[in-house]
Amino acid sequence: MNEEPTGGCALPQQGLPAERVLDEIHLLRAQDRPTHGGQLFAYVYDPAVPGLDELAATAYAASAHVNGLDPTAFPSLLAMENALVGAAAELLGGGPGSTAPEVVGSVTSGGTESLILAVKAARDAHPEISTPRLVVPASGHAAFAKAAHYLRVGLDVVPVDPGTLRPDPAATAAAIGPETVLVACSAPSYAHGVIDPVGEIAAAAAAAGVRCHVDACFGGWTLPYLRRLGVPVPPFDFAVPGVTSISVDLHKYAYAPKGVSVLLHRDPALRAPQYFAYADWPGYTMINPTIASTRSGGPIAAAYATLRHLGDDGYLRLAAATRDAVAGLADAVRRVPGLRLMAEPESTVVCFTATDPELDLFVLVDELTARGWHTQPQLSYAGLPASVHLTVTAAVATRVGEFSPALAEAAKAVRAAGPVVLPEQLRTLAGTLTPDALTPELVGGLAAGLGLGGSAAAPPDRMAVVNTLLDAAAPALRERLLVEFVGLLQRPHW
Ligand SMILES: *Cc1c(COP(=O)(O)O)cnc(C)c1O
Repeated sequence: MNEEPTGGCALPQQGLPAERVLDEIHLLRAQDRPTHGGQLFAYVYDPAVPGLDELAATAYAASAHVNGLDPTAFPSLLAMENALVGAAAELLGGGPGSTAPEVVGSVTSGGTESLILAVKAARDAHPEISTPRLVVPASGHAAFAKAAHYLRVGLDVVPVDPGTLRPDPAATAAAIGPETVLVACSAPSYAHGVIDPVGEIAAAAAAAGVRCHVDACFGGWTLPYLRRLGVPVPPFDFAVPGVTSISVDLHKYAYAPKGVSVLLHRDPALRAPQYFAYADWPGYTMINPTIASTRSGGPIAAAYATLRHLGDDGYLRLAAATRDAVAGLADAVRRVPGLRLMAEPESTVVCFTATDPELDLFVLVDELTARGWHTQPQLSYAGLPASVHLTVTAAVATRVGEFSPALAEAAKAVRAAGPVVLPEQLRTLAGTLTPDALTPELVGGLAAGLGLGGSAAAPPDRMAVVNTLLDAAAPALRERLLVEFVGLLQRPHW
């Protein structure tokens, strides 16, 4: 950060007045990208509903000190969790009167935790398999790889078709082996917003006697409403035979503050191996459905308040606004020569690439940022070109008219500036360096040269050169470089 309001670490010699502390936080917050106003197309989800933030903050505060560790000590939290799980289950094809009346679930801290727990439950259902494996499409969220890494589960990645951006069901079926404990697919994928062929993949998994997880972390709360609005949404939830678990993030399109996701299982037996229980110590017997043991009630109460306040009618209205915003943004992209949509939008993502090398996407992202529009660059990967990702939320609806001219102007500026040309030395480095050849000196020099140096420096406004360098590197080198760069940022203030 550029400003250090405290001038040092978080613990002053003498405590400060509340007002002064809040001033510091507001000063720090002023450096952030705008969480509200419909101009940040990643990280945040804004319904632009007046009063909702205040309601969620009040609910959060009311339960911040309640501990989810023991549901018998704090029945309020148990009640709110069960209410959230019930709402998610009903929305996603479970509950009374459905074909999945036995659905149960858990409230987790986020999508990543939901996926780790889905993989853990699948793994621990098969103690007899010594080297368990997970089948996931290449478009699956990186959190699956994280789960596999944390849990020592092997990863079998099924490529996606560069045209449809979906995995081939037959190739998915072929990837299932005797050690497979889980097959995963997305509804929709984060990167491109496309819905995988859930029916065929779940059928293949069921035929092999393997669990099938649908990662609806991103779109699980919007797809049912888009369907009700007449958007053609293929079956993806518990209505699909063979789907054994589904994740949906409430801190995405349920518009709850950060820290809440739901992991659903078709029945209690499928969920059982998700729990960790331990009685073999002199303290309390620990029974945890989730990774954390002590858990704040704050995010859960805030999510509960958000769902109760917005209601089914509210989410339907917000989905309609989002659908209209997506259509408007997609039109804006179509109007710019040299840009192409990666896929026709079928959910709440607009993702585009460039067909003209003069229209450098990474420079375009910077030009949009300079105009107040914060998009997310995605690096080229396995035959897929680099692209620009826009997560679209309801707050964007009123801003679409401004985006179109901004995009056209930004594209003009990109053509005038020309594409990033990496210095020959850097290009060679990116192409030949192996991750283990990276020394602290090399990283330090590189970071300084790219404007990323200095422990207290914020990342530069212009990231096109950095993105071009990363794009030229293989994934393993990208990972190592970014770990080193982020490690330089994450240094304590003394
Ligand atoms: C966001 C997302 C995740 C990970 O969720 P976090 O809340 O960031 O941990 C997983 N899968 C999909 C499809 C997502 O969009």
